[in-house]
Amino acid sequence: MQLLMDRIRRDGKIKAGNVLKVDSFLNHQMDIKLFVEIGKEFKRRFADCEINKILTIEASGIGIACIVAQYFDVPVVFAKKSKTKNIAGDIYTTQVESFTHGRTYDIMVSKEFLGASDKVLLIDDFLANGKALEGLSDIVKNSGAQLVGAGIVIEKGFQPGGGHLRSQGIKVESLAIVESMDEIAGTIRFRGE
Ligand code: 5GP
Repeated sequence: MQLLMDRIRRDGKIKAGNVLKVDSFLNHQMDIKLFVEIGKEFKRRFADCEINKILTIEASGIGIACIVAQYFDVPVVFAKKSKTKNIAGDIYTTQVESFTHGRTYDIMVSKEFLGASDKVLLIDDFLANGKALEGLSDIVKNSGAQLVGAGIVIEKGFQPGGGHLRSQGIKVESLAIVESMDEIAGTIRFRGE
């Protein structure tokens, strides 16, 4: 998606440890006009798929998922990150290793909001090692719902998550795939360039 790649190049900041900061339009301040274009593009890429629910993970996935959901006309469920296992009621839960924070946390979704009749599109901001998406995919599996695919805003193609998920047969659509980035020069190369 050219608009997104141009924006990443213009406003993205490359940090140590293979981290791309996009706080000015995606992860802190959010450019809703850009989100609208992202929503339309995901709708186009998943046009032939039956989807009745979007699942994302707090916090940065939520804003994107909400705008995207308008184009699919479906509800959004977000997996909650929890520090305690002491959560009332029936839940699906799994563990996720955090790329940005370097620790493991539990995520959970109430059984009330996900079940065997659901056809689920996963949405997230970044795909790096794939742990967040694997966690969401585990939860979908445990619920008996069908995993239709995953829509990612920025995939870091030099990290293994995307390849790993695609090799499991999951339809992963990333709107910008960073092939390499140079912290010193401040340059980014996208797949297809
Ligand atoms: P994964 O589980 O695929 O390793 O990492 C995905 C999660 O880590 C995303 O939900 C995102 O919040 C965060 N993340 C991974 N890499 C980056 C990055 O380069 N920049 C930012 N801003 N977040 C990242």
